[in-house]
Amino acid sequence: MPRIVFLGPPGAGKGTQAKELARAFGIVHVSTGDLLRTAAREGTPLGLEVEQFLRAGQLVPDPLVLRLLEEQLVRPEAAAGYLLDGFPRTRPQAEALEALAPVDHVVYFEIPESLLVDRLTQRRSCPVCGSSYNLATNPPRVAGRCDRDGVSLIQRTDDQPEAVRTRLEVYYRQTAPLLDFYAQKGKLRRVDASADIPTVTRRIRAALGP
Ligand code: AMP
Repeated sequence: MPRIVFLGPPGAGKGTQAKELARAFGIVHVSTGDLLRTAAREGTPLGLEVEQFLRAGQLVPDPLVLRLLEEQLVRPEAAAGYLLDGFPRTRPQAEALEALAPVDHVVYFEIPESLLVDRLTQRRSCPVCGSSYNLATNPPRVAGRCDRDGVSLIQRTDDQPEAVRTRLEVYYRQTAPLLDFYAQKGKLRRVDASADIPTVTRRIRAALGP
């Protein structure tokens, strides 16, 4: 029952790799970003509040994200294991997760900051299935349309330059300290994430072992 966390800056490729590997391993992919975007789209009072944080590139408050995550981990499908993508992002989240269900491996997507801004601004996403593309390196087969469901691709509001800058700052200040937290527990697996998608997939598999 593997419990895996993907940790790394925005634009490192966590979501792309998580979709692929969760399917290959037969475990659940939990993206707190996707869950929050869905909540924001529903337009409930809570969703509207969430939307403000997303748009600004700020973190959604810990109690709210923790509640969303716990709901996912108690689903029967999660019993076979899960891959957390975008969670934890703060020390209190990491501590809450350790208390709830300690993870086995934390894969750290190591990548120079200079590559991230380009990857984020070139990204286009499917609003329905969440697939993401890069206009330069991983374009859809038909321009502007999702390969999986044909829906028109969008640019996430937080992939605009100003929100991108905030997200990177937030990452370095609040999330990067988790590297030490997990290294001390012997759970950190470093992967060079600056290569193309299949190469990074192979590196992650190797880092997770047989
Ligand atoms: P992502 O899709 O992982 O890039 O997440 C998009 C946005 O969702 C982030 O910029 C945050 O606003 C919010 N978010 C996602 N995961 C978390 C989390 N674990 N804690 C707080 N906010 C989160």
